[in-house]
Amino acid sequence: MTLRKRHELQIAIDGPAGAGKSTVAKLVAKHLNLFYVDTGAMYRAIAYKALKSGISIDDEEMVSQMAQTTQVVLDHSEERLVWCDGENVTQAIRNPEISRAVSIVAAYIGVRQRLVELQRLEAARGGVVMDGRDIGTYVLPEADLKIFLTASAQERAKRRWLELQSAGKSVSLEEVTQDMLRRDRQDTEREVSPLEPARDAIILDTTGLNVEDIVAEILTLTQEG
Ligand code: C5P
Repeated sequence: MTLRKRHELQIAIDGPAGAGKSTVAKLVAKHLNLFYVDTGAMYRAIAYKALKSGISIDDEEMVSQMAQTTQVVLDHSEERLVWCDGENVTQAIRNPEISRAVSIVAAYIGVRQRLVELQRLEAARGGVVMDGRDIGTYVLPEADLKIFLTASAQERAKRRWLELQSAGKSVSLEEVTQDMLRRDRQDTEREVSPLEPARDAIILDTTGLNVEDIVAEILTLTQEG
């Protein structure tokens, strides 16, 4: 693996929901002083806008058209605010109704083309740690390091449920598990850029591991070249 200079590194972190991608990606970005780009937040912003505008999320043409003119901005401050057409949607996009709708809009090629363009622009600004589903396979095929994070479905659901609890959202573990499994299925089975490890990805199973160990492992991998 030939690595770019440290400040220009591109690290792709893909994997299913609840695998710990965003927690790990944020910490790796902080250690290496790189931008962190949460691509899932961008798809969530599109789902949010469609629902808010009263557009049926099953209407591929309307949702795709809407996406072309939607401005999604991720701010790089500590708060990591997400803006959709000037509205702060950071909290709203984490609601369970958005989690249920997002994989439907994320399967539309028009939506993906628009967001991939924005994601590549982010990567062109400098080194990035980008997390998502298709970063290593499609968005940044030349990334210096590709990680595919996974964990048992039980553990992933539990992590998601705990996150929602601490954000004050009351939802049962069973509901979270079912929603997560449905979303994984939709993400894995869609035609465009399905969730799958890139051929050159390193697969890390985080079941039973703590965040510090995973971050340390990824940091070590960035030093091998
Ligand atoms: O990462 P997060 O769970 O917030 O992503 C929400 C959804 O956005 C995923 O379930 C998937 O449908 C979609 N997504 C995607 N491609 C990405 C990132 C997210 O299709 N690169």
